[in-house]
Amino acid sequence: MTDLPVRIARLAHFLDELQVDAMLITDETNVRYLSGFTGDSSFLLVRRGDATILSDGRYETQIAEQCPTLAVAIRPPGQLMPDLLRSVICELGDQRIGIEACHLSVAALGQMRADCPHAQWIETTDVVERLRMIKDADEIAITRQAVAIAEVCYREMVAQLSPQWTERAIAHELESKMRALGAEGVSFPPIVAAGPAAALPHYHPGDRVIGDAATLLIDWGACYQGYASDLTRTLHRDHAADRFRRAYQVVLEAQLAAIEAIGPGVAASEVDAAARRVLAREGMDEAFKHGLGHGTGLQIHEAPRISSVSTETLAAGMIITVEPGVYFEGDFGIRIEDDILVTDRGCEVLSSLPKGLEDCRWML
Ligand code: ZN
Ligand code: ZN
Repeated sequence: MTDLPVRIARLAHFLDELQVDAMLITDETNVRYLSGFTGDSSFLLVRRGDATILSDGRYETQIAEQCPTLAVAIRPPGQLMPDLLRSVICELGDQRIGIEACHLSVAALGQMRADCPHAQWIETTDVVERLRMIKDADEIAITRQAVAIAEVCYREMVAQLSPQWTERAIAHELESKMRALGAEGVSFPPIVAAGPAAALPHYHPGDRVIGDAATLLIDWGACYQGYASDLTRTLHRDHAADRFRRAYQVVLEAQLAAIEAIGPGVAASEVDAAARRVLAREGMDEAFKHGLGHGTGLQIHEAPRISSVSTETLAAGMIITVEPGVYFEGDFGIRIEDDILVTDRGCEVLSSLPKGLEDCRWML
């Protein structure tokens, strides 16, 4: 299903630009993206025309199944990864080898320099992360499924929602339903925040009973075949204050304005600005305390960042979240989040849960 040679060939294409003979991939997620291997503790050495996965005996069978076209170097029991790396690298001789500077410890690099004195280790950053920004057809199809699972679970959970439930029970219910529908698990621990707790953007659900809380913020997502979905809805009951209703309409308008701005060639910072302008017009920009969104994929937060300081330009194939929020300490918080695919002509909202004020009215 996954077109491994294409991904590795795309990386190999950058070797000239990076002025290296090989790239040593040490980040587990990047190894998975390039090779399809879902285990851990393994490195990938990519050269022009070939790639070798460095691993240990636990993964020999799994590698044969998941990456049949790759060369394999397995360290026997008693040999450590640095020893295997030294033998593979020394065979190459005098080479310039790109390393992932953000995914290698200073200690490991020091050992590699001492072990392989003929190699030159060239620091690179975000090389594979930049490839991962543009999703292929498989990744888009998997993400659609991750979104669909999250949505079905949410609908079922809301239909059963009772004031006796605690925030933690809601989080647990979402998680178990997502697993039952084929997700590996959650893409991050769900945020379930009743009433004023929602004013903390990254609140952890506690033993608080929903009780008569007027509002309930739920931020959740499924991890399906490695890919994340990430959605937020903010529910309210009839006794929610008018200031909540007004603020909700403004956040929704900001979210729709940002989605409207999305398209290939658009600066990510401009999408953030489109939301911020709506909030500023209503005097709520200071209550919007985070960036507008982020890429999703094999990780819940990946490039591109959608914020005022982002330097990225959107391109077809990116999947990003749009999640404006306002937070009023001791009172309430509102966030509305959807997952958006950038297309050749503009964008497609992958999530379909209704989000109008009336749609998010929770009735007992
Ligand atoms: Zn989220
Ligand atoms: Zn998010």
